[in-house]
Amino acid sequence: GARPVPDYLVRLNPEQRLAVETTEGPVLVLAGAGTGKTRVLTTRIAHLLATGRAYPSQILAVTFTNKAAREMRHRIGDLIGPSVEGMAWLGTFHSIGVRILRRHAELVGLKSNFTVLDADDAVRLMKQLIQAEGIDEKRWPGKQLALLIDGWKNRGLTPKDVPPGEGGAFAGGKGVKLYTAYQERLKVLNACDFGDLLLETIRLFRENPDVLAEYQQRFQYMLVDEYQDTNVAQYLWLRLLAQGRRNICCVGDDDQSIYGWRGAEVDNILRFEKDFPGAVVIRLERNYRSTSHILGAASHLITHNEGRLGKTLFTDIADPEAAKVQVASSWDSEEEARAIGEEIEALQRQGHSLDEMAILVRASFQMRSFEERFIQLGLSYRVIGGPRFYERAEIRDALAYLRVVMQPADDLAFERIVNTPRRGIGETTIRLLHDHARARRIPMMAAAEELVQTSEIGAKARTALRDLVAAFARWRGRLDAVKHTELAEIILDESGYTEMWQQDRSADAPGRLDNLKELIRSMEEFESLEGFLEHIALVMDRDSADTTEAVSIMTLHSAKGLEFETVFLPGWEEGLFPSQRTLDESGRAGLEEERRLAYVGITRAKRRALIWFASNRRIHGLWQSTVPSRFLDELPEKHVDVVEQTSSYGGYNVGGIGNYGASRFDRADPFSNTYSTPGWQRAQKNRAASADKPTARPTMRVIEGELVAKSTGSASAYAIGERVFHQKFGYGTVSAIEGNKLTVDFTTGPKKVVDSFVTRG
Ligand code: ATP
Ligand code: MG
Repeated sequence: GARPVPDYLVRLNPEQRLAVETTEGPVLVLAGAGTGKTRVLTTRIAHLLATGRAYPSQILAVTFTNKAAREMRHRIGDLIGPSVEGMAWLGTFHSIGVRILRRHAELVGLKSNFTVLDADDAVRLMKQLIQAEGIDEKRWPGKQLALLIDGWKNRGLTPKDVPPGEGGAFAGGKGVKLYTAYQERLKVLNACDFGDLLLETIRLFRENPDVLAEYQQRFQYMLVDEYQDTNVAQYLWLRLLAQGRRNICCVGDDDQSIYGWRGAEVDNILRFEKDFPGAVVIRLERNYRSTSHILGAASHLITHNEGRLGKTLFTDIADPEAAKVQVASSWDSEEEARAIGEEIEALQRQGHSLDEMAILVRASFQMRSFEERFIQLGLSYRVIGGPRFYERAEIRDALAYLRVVMQPADDLAFERIVNTPRRGIGETTIRLLHDHARARRIPMMAAAEELVQTSEIGAKARTALRDLVAAFARWRGRLDAVKHTELAEIILDESGYTEMWQQDRSADAPGRLDNLKELIRSMEEFESLEGFLEHIALVMDRDSADTTEAVSIMTLHSAKGLEFETVFLPGWEEGLFPSQRTLDESGRAGLEEERRLAYVGITRAKRRALIWFASNRRIHGLWQSTVPSRFLDELPEKHVDVVEQTSSYGGYNVGGIGNYGASRFDRADPFSNTYSTPGWQRAQKNRAASADKPTARPTMRVIEGELVAKSTGSASAYAIGERVFHQKFGYGTVSAIEGNKLTVDFTTGPKKVVDSFVTRG
């Protein structure tokens, strides 16, 4: 007789159900954002287990990040209960690779207790090899070799597979030779790097058919999420394993492929049908996540990409009240953070949880203004996929320099940067400094000053230390003479710190340089170095309660697969998003990847997506007026509200983005690297022209009371004579106003402060 349909299947639509119930043979689910691909995978696992087709340990399930793996385990647990714990093979490519490799280490020349080198260790090793080869490490840095080798590994190439000619990119043709030497050295050290976790497993399988057969037998069913972001090595790895039972189910969305820069290949989707003939390809077209406006905006945007497989998407989420995607502008990044902060507080007052709100940025340096604003407001936030701004290594280093200048006795700071960048002050010297400082009960800096006069320290280190001590004395001497932001720049330059990152060839180095610039920029809001460092001390002191509700701040890249009720998308400006660097380095392909990133961003939103662009941003140390992102032009008018902001701050009136929409198809060359995009130029002119002629409804919420002062036309929200409160200086009276800077007479004396740092007292 007919058995009742289990509960978990009832909660699927017919296509999803087909994807779950087609358990045998290769299946490819190709579908847009929010169509339930991940839900298909978790339900499929539940189904395989519930119907007795496999034991938990016979299922291989691969996801992209550890966070995604945890989430999946959790979702499966909800469906099947504690037996999810038996799923030993649910994880990332790396975590599964390392497990397999440890079991058979001796077959690839390792011992089972081999070490997995992190990226830094790997680079250090490469440096040694470069030097051993007699190559000038300054010209051919280890980081660059690391990038090259990593690229080959992503493509599944061992040293002997590298096509002739390709090795020439490094040190006059020494690339492959160094790659070979590196792999040999790893074996001697009983170590491997991240790339090897896959590459060595592939080699293991190829050279040992019996081992491969064992795993092909074991993995009765294989499942892969975010398939569009697999690289060639991962693909080869999967294909080897799946060729036994051929029960492989991959889910993905070509429009969400955002890791091309790390070697991911969308072509893997096309290869799938070739390598697995007879594969059932299932398309899901119904989106369960977003309102029709959000989906409509995202779907239309992505049609501007040429290289797509193409698909339709619809949503049934019926909500007559549903908001269109909002596009709003601000004067600069501070105002952007301030306005978004207000929006968040307003939503919170309406009963929305902070957990359901996210700010997705293109570049990590954008996070700082949000973090700072939220700290001021007392809004809890968490940064996903990376440290908070002031906790980043490069920021801590830079702050350490500044702290030593202000306070030479700051031993912690001194020790942090005494040999960063490397200047030949090694462990031995530092130990000597410690001993001397302790014996004489003086700070390390003072100990250094004394020791460089003696011959306790070796000649080379002594010179380096003497130079450093002298440099700090020089910088300190200029504290009053030079503006603090300039001094900070001088310090980072003269110390070689900025150069250290400029020389660095790793993928995150440009981001770190951006962060350093952002740090200097943030100092501008303070009168002095002292004031700035005090502020930082307060900001850093904040304890991070992770259990409370909090707004999530993360990059677009780390938002993949996630969803939130409300998503804020700030910084949609040419040069930032799309990123100039991507356009310069990867041309049109880069632009298309940026657009997919925009698609990923918008489709994270369930109910509200709010896009922002600032009219001014500091680029290379100079304030520049920006051009709104071309992606704004590519949004369909009918799903978008251009928010007229009768600016609540700064007396600046954004006149909306003019004839936005009409300009959409004006651009002769959509891939133009110049900023002269005709549509927006016109829009910018209109912006000025329509300054006092609002054409759309103002939706920015203005906190009660502020509007009164602001609509008087004064640039500041405050009036002379008004009593205000400042977190650090306490109560005071406004005595002068200049733009958004107030002079306030505090009990400790007059101070210049930025108006966003005070509240009415
Ligand atoms: P992305 O491409 O962003 O990774 P996805 O295709 O993996 O998205 P899911 O995260 O699985 O989509 O699903 C999106 C949302 O829709 C989730 O909240 C999920 O619970 C819900 N959902 C999926 N399928 C259904 C369904 N048949 N009925 C109700 N809700 C569903
Ligand atoms: Mg998903």
